[in-house]
Formats: sequence, C-alpha cells, structure tokens
Amino acid sequence: MHQLRDDFFDEGRRLDADPTTRHLSVCWICKGRIDYDADQGTTPESHHLDHRKPVSTHPELQEDPDNFEHSHKACNQQRGAGAPSPGLGEEMPAWW
Ligand SMILES: [Zn+2]
Repeated sequence: MHQLRDDFFDEGRRLDADPTTRHLSVCWICKGRIDYDADQGTTPESHHLDHRKPVSTHPELQEDPDNFEHSHKACNQQRGAGAPSPGLGEEMPAWW
C-alpha cells in the first residue's frame, strides 16, 4: 500500500507541474490546488490519498488505484470515512 500511495502522489505531482494537466491533480473535494512541494500529510494543504468509495464500506477497493483520488489532507480529514462527497449525485453530508 505504501508504494501505491507514493506512486499516486508522484503522479499527482507530475500532473500539477504541467499547466495543461494540472486540473487532473487538484483536490477532488474542494477542487483547489494541492501543495505537492510539501510531503504527504504534513500540512493541511498537502496531499492525501482519498478513496472515492470509502474503505469502511469497500475494503476490497483499498488498494485499487481506480478508487484513488487526490485530496488535501484537511479536506480528506473533514470528509472523514463514509461521508459521500457532494457532486456525485449523493446526499450532502451533514457537515456540508
Ligand atoms: Zn481540498
């Protein structure tokens, strides 16, 4: 899992470095740009690997790269496990 996480971070950093692909590497929750200069999880604006389908309900997808999303550490933590993100046709979580 650690290797997958690092690979995903490197991919995001590559996408962010190119203005034509930068939109693919933004936070999938708030659509803001992620600070790829910071190490993963070290600041609120730094990168976190989020799971589109929460591991709590889809443990089989924990190591499936198709289920990975780029996010801010702060956004991922605020979202928490299990709360569906807005914009996918699902109900807004209570904190929104
Ligand atoms: Zn964010």
